[in-house]
Amino acid sequence: MSYVGPDFDPPQPRRGRRRVLTVGLAALVPGALLGWVMYEAVGGDGGGSGNAAVQPSQAPSDQAPTDSTTSDDKPPGPTPTTDSTSAPAGSGSGSLDGRVVVIDPGHNPNNFRHTSEINRKVNIGTNWKECDTTGTSTNDGYSEAEFTLDVAHRMRTLLEKQGATVKFTQDGDRSWGPCVDERAEIGNKAHADAVVSIHADGAGSGQRGFHVILPGKVDEGAANTGPVVAPSRALGERIAGSFVRVTGDAPSNYIGDGTGLVTRKDLGGLNLSTVPKVFIECGNMRDSKDAAQLTSGAWRQKAAQGISEGIVSFLVK
Ligand code: ZN
Repeated sequence: MSYVGPDFDPPQPRRGRRRVLTVGLAALVPGALLGWVMYEAVGGDGGGSGNAAVQPSQAPSDQAPTDSTTSDDKPPGPTPTTDSTSAPAGSGSGSLDGRVVVIDPGHNPNNFRHTSEINRKVNIGTNWKECDTTGTSTNDGYSEAEFTLDVAHRMRTLLEKQGATVKFTQDGDRSWGPCVDERAEIGNKAHADAVVSIHADGAGSGQRGFHVILPGKVDEGAANTGPVVAPSRALGERIAGSFVRVTGDAPSNYIGDGTGLVTRKDLGGLNLSTVPKVFIECGNMRDSKDAAQLTSGAWRQKAAQGISEGIVSFLVK
């Protein structure tokens, strides 16, 4: 669950030369499908250049759908274009030798027992935020914290096969937290080459799909994201592209204008990072169709693979 509050920053429109193409496509395809089409167009295999920006579309927004009968239709379905059971594309065994990846499994299964500790405010540079939150859950009670740890474990297995040193911010091995500032600090002190914070969202029924959250540019207090905004965006684009390809899912239909990318300046875990870092909201736990995926081990394996392949693509240049 992301920390959507009064200070929520809406996605920042970006300008780029693909705008004309985007507008053209927007007239032809629905928003959700447009997002996928754009990934394909700009190198959704994660192998494009680091600047292969996935531009937000100018399509009429289909954000915040309330009628599930209009939002449940998936696009004709991107099928994986490569053998998704093989090693991450473009990398051989040991391709991540010497590289450090920090995985931040969002929340903590025990946070709900420690509300006073996790409600304590910590300084995130731009303002003060709660140390941590409990996260969300499916309507049947499968918790986000359980989900994030499972995906993190699957990712660790995949990334270690590539030779990476993988560190966690928590592994269900502490009674609460860590706080968001400590989560950032763990990646910083590890001198991580990439950090990914794993989450699942708690939005309304009918709101579906994943989105990757990128750090916005902030320079206030202990927050100075200037040096990591660009590499974090590159990391996020690779992850989004790989996630679409491996899971076959379309990007979020309720945020990011079909791109699957959202920039925020209100997350301590991003504001305080001095290394490339993104969040991913893998789906919406409160939507029954997304929940069916999030509670499937087979789907979580695909999600872990999609994220991991994006990391590999970002690190192996
Ligand atoms: Zn979360």
